[in-house]
Amino acid sequence: MRVLIVEDEPKLAERIHAALVRAGMVADIAPDGIEGQFLGETESYDAAVLDLGLPKIDGLSVLEHWRAAERKMPVLILTARSRWHEKLAGFNAGADDYLTKPFEMEELVVRVKALIRRSAGHASPILECGALKLDTNAARFEYDGQPLELTAHEYRILSFLMHHAGRVVSRTELMEHVYARDADSDSNVLDVLIGRIRKKLPEPLLVTVRGQGFVLGRTRETP
Ligand code: CA
Repeated sequence: MRVLIVEDEPKLAERIHAALVRAGMVADIAPDGIEGQFLGETESYDAAVLDLGLPKIDGLSVLEHWRAAERKMPVLILTARSRWHEKLAGFNAGADDYLTKPFEMEELVVRVKALIRRSAGHASPILECGALKLDTNAARFEYDGQPLELTAHEYRILSFLMHHAGRVVSRTELMEHVYARDADSDSNVLDVLIGRIRKKLPEPLLVTVRGQGFVLGRTRETP
C-alpha cells in the first residue's frame, strides 16, 4: 500500500511517513501544493494525507484538481483548526475523512488503513482468502491460525494482493503500489519475492497469470 503525504511542515511529514512505514506501507512526501498535485495526478496511490494549509497551491484546490482529473484515491485531510466550514469545504471537494491538528499518529494510521480497506471494498479490518487471513490493524498474516512470518517487502506485496484478492494484478500495478518513488524497484527482485512468498504459503494461493500478472486466490469474473 502506497500513500501520498502532502504536508509542508517537514517534521510532521517525516513523523507521518515513519508511522505509515512502521504500519507496513510505503509513502512519498510532497512539501507543497504544486508537487502534491503533480504526484497525486501522475503516480499511483492507495490513499493520500493532505494538509489544507499549503504553500503554492492550497490543499482544497489540490483536492478539487485531483477529483476533476478523476483521481479516485481516498483522501484524508488535515485541518489546522477545528473550524467546521473547513471540514465541510473539504468534504465538498471530495475528501473522505479528516483529522484536526494536533492529532495522535496512531489515529491517523488507523484511519488511513480503514480508507484503503474500504476503497478496496472491505468493511472488516480482517481480510480473508481461504485459510489465509490478514489482520490489517495488527499488520499480521495467519494461515490456518498459524502466524506467517514475512519480511517487510513480502508483507507489502501480499498485503496489496490480499486487498485485491481474486483480481489479476499486473506486474506494473503491483510495483507501483509496493515501492515508494525514490525506492530501487526491480522487476527481477519482485519475482524473487513472489517466489519466497509462495514457498511460505502451504497451498498454491498465489498464482502467476502468464502475460497478465498475479492473482491471490481464485479469479473472480470481472463484471
Ligand atoms: Ca500547513
